[in-house]
Amino acid sequence: MIDNRSKCFAFVPFCLLAQAYQAQGIVKYEWKSSIKPFLQLLMDNDINIIQMPCIEATYHQQLVRKPMGLKKYDTEEFNNHCEILAESVAKEIKQLLDSQYQVIAILGIEQSPSCCVNYIYTNHGNEHRKGLFMEKLDKKIQEYHIPIIGINRKYITKSLNQLQSVIELQKEKLEREKNDD
Ligand code: SF4
Repeated sequence: MIDNRSKCFAFVPFCLLAQAYQAQGIVKYEWKSSIKPFLQLLMDNDINIIQMPCIEATYHQQLVRKPMGLKKYDTEEFNNHCEILAESVAKEIKQLLDSQYQVIAILGIEQSPSCCVNYIYTNHGNEHRKGLFMEKLDKKIQEYHIPIIGINRKYITKSLNQLQSVIELQKEKLEREKNDD
């Protein structure tokens, strides 16, 4: 039986496909809905796209909300919420890997108190750390060595190039495996 599926996956933040889930005043740049270049790159390379839950919208149980900094989100209740969602995403990743599929990358959104990868905006400027959800997810999947790439929505080139490199490496790996068979 011919099965033409791609076995490569990327996990992306919910708002990469639906920026309307962002807090008020956050959608400032070129894209009004999806942040297209990342999706285009993934689609052009036949990578299956898995949308992770929006941590903040599911916490507030509504979409319209003011932006809140790390200090306001760093509570026991919000951290428990992140923990539950991180566990669920980690399980999904494990399931894929157990099925011999590949997870080539996880994307985050820089400055988000929940989903950033390298830096959070605080009242004292940028702080170098992961968001509350991303740090928990990272701990749970560390053994898999999946690249986690942070998207800076103002300057996307760097993260786009990072994603491109990860895709190229994956392609080379698949090619090598094919030749070894
Ligand atoms: S919590 Fe994450 S998915 Fe939701 S809007 Fe913020 S960065 Fe996007």
